[in-house]
Amino acid sequence: MTDALHPPVFVFSDLDDTLFSSARKRVPGPDSQPAALLRNGEVVSYSNGPQRALLAWLMRDAQLVPVTARSVEAYRRVLLSFSGPAILSFGGVLLDAAGQEDAHWAAHMLQVLAPAAPLLEEACALLQSAIEARGLNAWARVAQEGGLAQYVVAKHREHDVDALAQLGKDVLEPWLAAHAGFRSHQNANNLALLPPGLDKSAALAFLLSRLRATHGEIVTVGFGDSFSDAEFMALCDYSMTPGGTQLGNRMAGRKERAHAR
Ligand SMILES: [Mg+2]
Repeated sequence: MTDALHPPVFVFSDLDDTLFSSARKRVPGPDSQPAALLRNGEVVSYSNGPQRALLAWLMRDAQLVPVTARSVEAYRRVLLSFSGPAILSFGGVLLDAAGQEDAHWAAHMLQVLAPAAPLLEEACALLQSAIEARGLNAWARVAQEGGLAQYVVAKHREHDVDALAQLGKDVLEPWLAAHAGFRSHQNANNLALLPPGLDKSAALAFLLSRLRATHGEIVTVGFGDSFSDAEFMALCDYSMTPGGTQLGNRMAGRKERAHAR
């Protein structure tokens, strides 16, 4: 219900491990349905019954806005359909309801990201050298969006998250000490290096001002599973996190290695 007494509810939600899970992290069961594809068309992630029930509930009574690290291309491989705007690439890209890039945000991010590109390339080369020197079955690359460098991502092909954490500690930590404003983040088999200004919360702050200008008062809920989601969730009136995830375990007071899921 939306009227003067009931302002509209917006749920800003991460995707992977929040609305669906990769088959590696949650073994598909009889109630599983495909939720996201690999580039080759193979199903990589599934939703289960409870995840779909929650999604249906949110979509019935709220506007659901994806807030994801996925690139535009990877977002297109998600099998759920969303009707409004979407925040992609850790906040580097804001799509409008028609799926077009928001020109204001794109112009802003060009200013933010262009100076960082050579530094991202430098850090990525350091990771690649260390991967080779250690004989790790891993890769690192600079994620691009429309030809613009966004962030560095590294993964281990056999999901050795400890080897990935050691790589981050040995290579990125010293590099970060010399490069103010950059930050790194690991959740399971994803190690990322983000430049200053690339942030889900920065994109959400921009979108929130837009939505408030259009709708007046709104009620906001942040939904995510990862430490890297906490900041954007903190901009919202309420937050939710799935149990058994990186952020869920921290909220439950479970002590675990920061990089483990
Ligand atoms: Mg996630």
